[in-house]
Amino acid sequence: MKPAVVVVGSLNMDFVVSMDRLPAPGETVLGRDFRMIPGGKGANQACAAGKLGGDAITVRMIGRVGYDVFADHLKASLSAAGVDVSGVHATRAQPTGVALIWVDRAGQNSIVVASGANHELAAADVEAMRQACRGAAIALFQLETPLDTVEAALRLAREEGARTVLDPAPAQSLPAGLLDQIDILTPNESEAQLLSGGSAARLLPLSEASALAESLRRLGPRTVILKLGDRGCLLLDDAGPRHFPAFRVEARDTTAAGDTFNAALAIALAEGKPLVEAIPFANAAAAISVTRLGAQTSAPSRAEVDQFIRGSGKL
Ligand code: ADP
Repeated sequence: MKPAVVVVGSLNMDFVVSMDRLPAPGETVLGRDFRMIPGGKGANQACAAGKLGGDAITVRMIGRVGYDVFADHLKASLSAAGVDVSGVHATRAQPTGVALIWVDRAGQNSIVVASGANHELAAADVEAMRQACRGAAIALFQLETPLDTVEAALRLAREEGARTVLDPAPAQSLPAGLLDQIDILTPNESEAQLLSGGSAARLLPLSEASALAESLRRLGPRTVILKLGDRGCLLLDDAGPRHFPAFRVEARDTTAAGDTFNAALAIALAEGKPLVEAIPFANAAAAISVTRLGAQTSAPSRAEVDQFIRGSGKL
C-alpha cells in the first residue's frame, strides 16, 4: 500500500480584487482586476501535497464545504492535484468558506475571512475520520477549523499511528491538551512568539530563535520547526537546534509559502526521509512557491522541486 498523508482543515474560495488604494469606511473605489483563487490553509496544504506526492503518495483531504458552486470549484481544484476529496463533506447549515481580499498598488492588503462551513467541522465528526486516518504516515493540521475539532482529530490521528504536524496559523494561544497531541509544531515567527506568551509583531534575530523554539518545546511538541521566511527555518528536537537557510530566490508573493513548506515536509517524511533531509526539500518547494502568485496556483510539482535542488537553487 502507498504511504498516505491526511490533511484536516479549511477550504476557502479567495476573491482577490486589486485596486489603486484600499477604500476608507463608507467609500466606494473602482477595482482593477478580480480573480477567484482556491484557498484555505487546509486545502492549500492538501493541494501542494498532492502535486508533490504524485503517484507515490496518497493524499486525503478532510473538511467541510457548503452546497454551492464554490464547493464544486474547490473540490475540483484538489482533485486535479490528485487529492482524494471523499472526506470533504457538504453541510446545509453554512455556505462554503470565503476570503475577501483587497490588494492595493503597494501590495498592502485587507482581508476578511467568512469561515462558513469550515466552522461546521465538529468534534462529533471526528470519529468518521478514523478510516481516512488509518495507516496514514503523516496528518497535517492548521487552525482555521474549531479548536476542539483540531484537538480531537489530532488525538485520533495519533491513535491510528500517524505522526501529527500542526501549523498553528492563524496565530492564537492553544490549550495544553491540544499541544500535547502534536509531534511536530511548525510556527512562523509571529505565531511562535504568540504561543510562547510574547507579543506577535517582532522580527526575531536568529540568535534568539533557538530560545524561542525551546520555550515552545516545553509546551509539549518533541519537535519544533520555526519558519523564518527568507532566512529559512530552525529545527529543534532531541539532537539540539539546527538552522536550515532558505534558497535565494526573487520573491513575488509569499502567500501560502508556509502551506507549501508543510506539504513538502509531510511528503518527504511519508517517503521515509529523516527530518534533516525533509527540511531542505520543504525549503526548496516553499522557495519556488514564493516566486509565483497565489496560493494553490503557486505550489510546484515534484519534478520542479527535484530539478531546482539538482541545480542548487536555480530556477
Ligand atoms: P508563513 O508563510 O507560514 O508565514 P514563512 O514566511 O516563514 O511562513 O515561510 C515559510 C517558508 O517559506 C520558509 O521557512 C522558507 O523555507 C520559505 N520562504 C519564505 N519566504 C521566502 C523567501 N523570500 N525566499 C526563499 N524562501 C522563502
